[in-house]
Amino acid sequence: MRLSQGFVPTRKEDPSDAEVISHRLLIRAGYIRMLARGIYTFMPLGWRSVKKIEQIIREEMDASGALEVHMPGVQPAELWKESGRWEHYGSELLRFQDRKGADFCLGPTHEEVITDLVRNDVSSYKQLPLNLYQIQTKFRDEPRPRFGLMRGREFIMKDAYSFDLDEAGALKSYDIMFEAYHRICKRLGFEFRAVEADTGNIGGTRSHEFQVLADTGEDQIVSCPACNYTANVEKAEVQVDASARPADAQLGVMTKVETPAKRTIEEVSGFLDRRASQFIKTLIFMADLKPIAILVRGDHEANEIKIKSFLATHLGHNVEELRMASDAEVFEATRAPVGFAGPIGLKIPVYADWAINGLVNGVAGANEKDMHLVDVNHGRDFEVTAFGDLRLAREGDACGRCGGPFDAHRGIEVGHVFYLGTKYSDALNATVQDEEGKKRALVMGCYGIGVTRMLAAIVEQNHDENGIIWPMAVAPYHVVVMPMQTQDADVMEAANTIYRDLRAAGVEVALDDRDLRPGFKFKDADLIGFPLRITVGARGLKEGQVEFKARRDSENTMIAVAAIVDHVAGIVDEALR
Ligand code: ATP
Ligand code: MG
Repeated sequence: MRLSQGFVPTRKEDPSDAEVISHRLLIRAGYIRMLARGIYTFMPLGWRSVKKIEQIIREEMDASGALEVHMPGVQPAELWKESGRWEHYGSELLRFQDRKGADFCLGPTHEEVITDLVRNDVSSYKQLPLNLYQIQTKFRDEPRPRFGLMRGREFIMKDAYSFDLDEAGALKSYDIMFEAYHRICKRLGFEFRAVEADTGNIGGTRSHEFQVLADTGEDQIVSCPACNYTANVEKAEVQVDASARPADAQLGVMTKVETPAKRTIEEVSGFLDRRASQFIKTLIFMADLKPIAILVRGDHEANEIKIKSFLATHLGHNVEELRMASDAEVFEATRAPVGFAGPIGLKIPVYADWAINGLVNGVAGANEKDMHLVDVNHGRDFEVTAFGDLRLAREGDACGRCGGPFDAHRGIEVGHVFYLGTKYSDALNATVQDEEGKKRALVMGCYGIGVTRMLAAIVEQNHDENGIIWPMAVAPYHVVVMPMQTQDADVMEAANTIYRDLRAAGVEVALDDRDLRPGFKFKDADLIGFPLRITVGARGLKEGQVEFKARRDSENTMIAVAAIVDHVAGIVDEALR
């Protein structure tokens, strides 16, 4: 590609809505452009890298025995009504009607369509196992699209679905995908962890997220260096300390104090000079539209997933919908504006995390505007309906498996493997005949990779203050050839020859033949992130040499013109091997 004829519009300024580095750099280096919130165009360079990621995924999927298909993006409502998700998927599902008034949606995922496909054309156990995948555009009307490609509304996903006769077969299919995902992440050069993840209310037993480690990740992960247990904090098992406060603890007299306009724990704790760990954080949730109070220590975070499974056990039935109460609902339950809720005098069930059990002389909201209570003690000042493990795991917590202290990381979820069981095959009546001629529901797994999210994740892990540093496997071009003096015929001839010979050697090369200041072109090359750079200058040429530099290295070397093509081709081959 000759940059003079290319379409690589680089920019000096960061986009105003960019909060993370991948978003800034992909826009500035001309890889993507926003069309609407969470909806992006891939420019020529961006699309080359996307296709390389897709190709790596495709190779590993094919190698693991999966078969590529391509399903429609537009899906009829009937199938979603059969699975029950037309009602339950919520507003992330973009629904619309065709000219005849029939309901459709834009596919956010394809369990319904694939199960329909398979139930119609698979009838015998002999056709199993089957794993079908596609690489395709998905649409999810995310409430908060952000971080550029990381959380888009329209994005590219690789989704795969496995079908087996029984659970043992399905778990084997799961393991094959688990291994393939490892290989894909390795080939893309990620520093990543496969973490145990929550299975939600699908009822499956196995689920792993592939998390790329990055400070900007939206997910929190804990891992135990002692036993290697790694999990999303939502799921992580911690050894809970359920001990009660000491019997001889000196309990203070509960006292009301004024805390004008101080709502957050931070504000109140600074104002009252009490540590956050002394606070009884009181959160009002709506569990199937009924208010409940959840108490966690001020320095802890409530875990909705754990709360949900705790309630299921405690109440003896599943809670369909658990959500934070609205301001009006908080007022209704506490008679106070948001920020002043406390457990004293509440007429709703009060569930407390185990850490509250050991708390002595806590601080809580007084259920009164601008008022808090100090020296609050449960059992004396208020009753707890039931205690449970209700909080997010965090750094330093004792690992649920071995007791060792957890390390904490942030992660970007680039992939998800999920054992589904018969949830969809039961709902859509997808069965096969087994060896005895008996009908059995297909046992399924589903496996997603965020292709475009991966592109962003690669940039998050591979950049410096000057721009992107592509790993060779996904760089839009391996090398840029940079003539310094575009008016100098000798320089241009040498640059053109190197450009031609590199292409002949199978190297993907860009020639920056633009008639611009060298300083400007160097800045662009760093921003764009070509892994290798060859600079052709009049002075070096006189000695028969060109300058070679790898984007990751700070120093450059002079190499004979006659040797440069072999040198670069060798490095590229080595990196791609
Ligand atoms: P998240 O928790 O990040 O919303 P999810 O659990 O909804 O993800 P899945 O339904 O498992 O995601 O989708 C499979 C993969 O698709 C995810 O692992 C992620 O890499 C990617 N993905 C999901 N939502 C988005 C999005 N809004 N933008 C880009 N990629 C996405
Ligand atoms: Mg999601």
